[in-house]
Amino acid sequence: MVSFLEERAKNIGGGGQNIMTDAKSVLNMSITVTVSAQKPPAPHGYISISTKRLLHNLEINAGARASVWVDSMRASSPTHIKSTPDDQGAWNLHHPSALEMFEQIIDASKGKQIIMFLDYDGTLSPIVEDPDRAFMSNKMRKTVRKLAKCFPTAIVSGRCRDKVYKFVKLAEQYYAGSHGMDIKGPEKRSKTDKVTEHVIFQPASEFLPMIDEVYKQLVETTKSTPGAKVENNKFCLSVHFRCVDEKKWSGLAQQVKSVLKEYPKLRLTQGRKVLEIRPTIKWDKGKALEFLLESLGFANCTDVFPVYIGDDRTDEDAFKILRDRGQGFGILVSKYPKDTNASYSLQEPDEVMDFLRRLVEWKQLSMGA
Ligand SMILES: [Mg+2]
Repeated sequence: MVSFLEERAKNIGGGGQNIMTDAKSVLNMSITVTVSAQKPPAPHGYISISTKRLLHNLEINAGARASVWVDSMRASSPTHIKSTPDDQGAWNLHHPSALEMFEQIIDASKGKQIIMFLDYDGTLSPIVEDPDRAFMSNKMRKTVRKLAKCFPTAIVSGRCRDKVYKFVKLAEQYYAGSHGMDIKGPEKRSKTDKVTEHVIFQPASEFLPMIDEVYKQLVETTKSTPGAKVENNKFCLSVHFRCVDEKKWSGLAQQVKSVLKEYPKLRLTQGRKVLEIRPTIKWDKGKALEFLLESLGFANCTDVFPVYIGDDRTDEDAFKILRDRGQGFGILVSKYPKDTNASYSLQEPDEVMDFLRRLVEWKQLSMGA
């Protein structure tokens, strides 16, 4: 494990500090078969803007024009996309409901260890106007607790790890905060009954002072945009525009860009109703997923079946990793057609809860049998 961590730290080009190795102690599982869940080919023409291309254009140093930014902000806020029933139908055909496909999913996972990766905002909790009030329901919490008893489970979020933990309040699973740049394993009690924290990986720790500095500047600069909210996620920053009038989006993007001009080591990307600022290290939710699989002992295993559920552009990195590995699959939470590497869809957090419950029921039944 140490050698993997050291190698990973070297590869990402950031400081590999604050690495502790507790990952080995996680789980031992048996291995048997190999199957791969293939993603059906993507449908054509259901969405007029290629979000991927837009995102590519959006890199802060590429000098993207404001109109491109606003187009992309709209593309990330799919309530603005007008899809026809035909588009919706074609999309549903290629990204069927994970609830409707439940039996097929279970069949594909036969003989393999299911590992669950769950995004938080928009997946376990509804998207609400105030990001500080994005609480998950008690019913959802109960479901996730049961899920974590049946399968290794990780919450992967763009938010600061402490904050997402305060929302989820479950000690028995992995947390990857700040888009996977802050990973911690389940809490364990030592013999003296003291809870010991198990930070596993913080690949961007050298950026902490810079992130704090930029946070302060962004708060100051975006003050004049009503509704804008800057959130410090420790290893990355979010500028939420859920409550900003669409006419002000372009101005807000300009304000953010003006601050970031001085910080070439930070890059700007987009999420759902949020601009994200993070270090330019090669690390994202997809890399976090690979790291977690490796630390769970499944690095080169063929009998592992990872399922990643998320609603955001940033989750696409994880969907793509699963697609490229030919292992498990991604489920996109969306009511609207979107360009995605996920194989299946669920419409909203309530459907996510139904899907997780069915997984738990299936596992309990199969254990009983
Ligand atoms: Mg999300």
